[in-house]
Amino acid sequence: MRSRFAPSPTGYLHLGNVWTAMLGWLQTKKAGGILVLRVEDIDEQRSKTEYMTAFTEDMLRLGLTWDEGPDVGGPYGPYIQRERYGRYHEAIERLAGMGLIYPCYCSRARLQAVAGAPHDGDMPVYDGRCYGMSEAEREKNNKPPSLRVHVPDCVISYQDGVYGEQCENLRRDCGDFVVHRADGMYAYQLAVSVDDGAMGITHVLRGRDLLNSTGRQIALMRLLGYKNRIEYTHVPLLVDSEGRRLSKRQHGMTVRDLWAAGADSQQILGYLAYKGGLVDTPGRYGLGELVQRFDTAKIACTDISIDAAPADIIKTFI
Ligand code: GLU
Repeated sequence: MRSRFAPSPTGYLHLGNVWTAMLGWLQTKKAGGILVLRVEDIDEQRSKTEYMTAFTEDMLRLGLTWDEGPDVGGPYGPYIQRERYGRYHEAIERLAGMGLIYPCYCSRARLQAVAGAPHDGDMPVYDGRCYGMSEAEREKNNKPPSLRVHVPDCVISYQDGVYGEQCENLRRDCGDFVVHRADGMYAYQLAVSVDDGAMGITHVLRGRDLLNSTGRQIALMRLLGYKNRIEYTHVPLLVDSEGRRLSKRQHGMTVRDLWAAGADSQQILGYLAYKGGLVDTPGRYGLGELVQRFDTAKIACTDISIDAAPADIIKTFI
């Protein structure tokens, strides 16, 4: 078993990150697997070294360790996405060699109009306007294009560890999607597929917000010829009292806030384990004990509401 932590260093580690990281760690340790730390810093505007340093410090303080990564090395490096651009370029070349890549000149306004009003969880379906455009038509567009992959007309199905049977028809549910953006950045879908494939990942545990990315990633890995089959487990998100996801951008509760308010790591892990249904009684729990109690069958599909301020959360531990 090989699984990974794949943080984007765009903010401090918050409770939502700890929740998924803890579950990934428990799942891997219970199975005696290898954990890889991969830094997902392709968003060069928002990623900061300072956040990556903080992430590693905070994870280690919580006891959430890894076996391969930028600091410890390993046979599948480099473990930082910014050092893997050559691999993403090669992957696009490979897809282009199969005739599956084409430039797209659609403006953001057009894409939004085609997609209609956004619904929660819905993906905008691309209508394929730039597919099959002639060279002459392409030349009329005087701007850098994004690159899309033409998706196969097939149904991708898999069994999710928490959300059960999933079925996606990429042509109908998503359409051709971007693998290289017009601003020069590689797309998340491409980078993560190349890395999960090339790093021999067998288990992915992450937030359910990425459930609808999975079909695209499975399709890309197949097209690129990776042999590893991944078992996916998507887990509910931590949300505030209004149902909004705790996120770095919303100034969610960082683990540093909790430490500053007097909590220790076992209280933080115990709190999450209790809220997430891994243990029946609230309290302090160490990782060793939580490994014994870990079972994906205990994880519900519904999001977990965290509606108190950090200081109040700590009082509930005592
Ligand atoms: N880097 C992504 C994030 O921090 C996670 C990607 C993944 O697990 O596939 O949200």
